[in-house]
Amino acid sequence: MADLRGILAAPSTRPNIRFQPTKHKVRAVIPKAFMPEGSLFDRPGGAAAAFVAFLVIAIVFFAGCGKKPLSKAELRAVTDEVVSAAQRVTGRKSEITIRPEVQPPGSGAPAELTADNIYISLADPSQAEALKQALAEIARRHKLSIAESTAGGMIRYDFSRDGNRTHAIHVVTPLAVRSRAPVSHLRGNPQLAIILDDMGHDRAAADSLLALPFPLTISVLPHLPLSAEVAEEAYRRGDQILLHLPMEPEAEGGGPEGVTREEIELRVGMNPDQVNSALEGMLETVPHAAGVNNHEGSRATADLPLMQALMPALRERNLFFIDSRTTAATVAYDAAERAGVPAASRKVFLDDTPSKEAILAQLELAARDASRDGSAIAIGHPRPATIAALAQGVPELESRGIHLVFASELVR
Ligand SMILES: [Zn+2]
Repeated sequence: MADLRGILAAPSTRPNIRFQPTKHKVRAVIPKAFMPEGSLFDRPGGAAAAFVAFLVIAIVFFAGCGKKPLSKAELRAVTDEVVSAAQRVTGRKSEITIRPEVQPPGSGAPAELTADNIYISLADPSQAEALKQALAEIARRHKLSIAESTAGGMIRYDFSRDGNRTHAIHVVTPLAVRSRAPVSHLRGNPQLAIILDDMGHDRAAADSLLALPFPLTISVLPHLPLSAEVAEEAYRRGDQILLHLPMEPEAEGGGPEGVTREEIELRVGMNPDQVNSALEGMLETVPHAAGVNNHEGSRATADLPLMQALMPALRERNLFFIDSRTTAATVAYDAAERAGVPAASRKVFLDDTPSKEAILAQLELAARDASRDGSAIAIGHPRPATIAALAQGVPELESRGIHLVFASELVR
C-alpha cells in the first residue's frame, strides 16, 4: 500500500482545527511520479523516469483536455484560506474539521486527493453572511465556481473548477433546542431514546432528520460515501452519534458490489485482533461515535466468542453498546455487562410496518414502556413515513412529560 501521508499532510495544526484523514481503504497504488515527496532524481534512473513522466504529462496536456485541474498545492492553499476566513468571521471560536476526500476505493484510478471537506460550526447564525462573502471572494480569486445549498439548518458551499468539485464547505449552526435542560431537572419523568439506524445512505433523509427539533441518536453505517459527512453534521447539529456496526446475519447474502462481507462486518470466527482492526477502520469513517449498536447480526450477536472479542475493544475506546436485539438468542448484552461495557437493549422497533399510522402506534408503545419502566429505547429507520411519524408524534409525547434523551443516558 502506498504511503498516503504526503497526500494527506495536515495543512495546519492550529487550535480548534482538527485534521481527519479519511482512511477509506485506498487500494490503488500512487505512481511515484505523482508522489509529493521523494524526488525522482534521488534514484538511479531517476532522470529517465522523470523524462517519461514529463512525456506523460505533456501528452495529457496537449491531448486537448484543456482543463487545468487544481493542483494539490493550490487546493490546499484554498483550504487554508477558507479556514482563516472562518476563524476571522467566528472570532476563532469555531470548531473546524478538514476531511480530505480521495478517489473512492475500487475506482481503478490512482489514489489522489480530489477534494477537501471542511466543516465549520457557527456559534451565531448572524455570522453566516460574513462567511458567505469571504467564501465568494476566495472562490473568485482562485477562479472557482461556487454553489450554495441549504438543508436541515445547514448551508453547504461547493467549490469547483470545470465541473470537478474541489471543496465542500459545510456550515452548521447547532440547534439551541438540543442543548436543553439537564436531565436532573426532569428526574422522575419517563425517558425515551430514539435511535435512527442505517444512516449514511440517504442525504435527503439525513437533512429531514437533522431538522427535527428534538434530540435523536443517529446510528451511521461505516465505509459509505456519506458516513463521515452525516456523522459530522449530525454531531454539529447536537445529535448523538453511534457506529451502526454491521454484523453477520443468519441468512447469507452478498455485500454491496465489489465488497466482500468480511471487509465490512463482524463475522463468527474472527479473532480479537481482526475484530479490533475492523472496528478501528469503521470508526475512522464515523467520527464522533459515542457508542455502537448492531446492524443485522442475528448470527453474530448469538456467538459468545465473537461478542467476547468485541466488548474489550469497545471498553478500550470508552464506547457503550446498544443491543438492537435482532434475535432472541442474543448474548451481546450479557457479554457487554460482563466486560464492563455500559449497555442497554432496544425495546421497540418503530417501523417494521412502514406506514405512518403503524409507526405512531409503535411510538405510543415505546412511550408506554418508558412510563412503566422509567425508560425505553426505540429504533427506527430514515424513511419518509418514519420521519413524518416522529415529526408528529414526538412533540405530543413531550407535551405529556416523556423526556427525549440520547441513548448514552440509558446505558447501565
Ligand atoms: Zn441496521
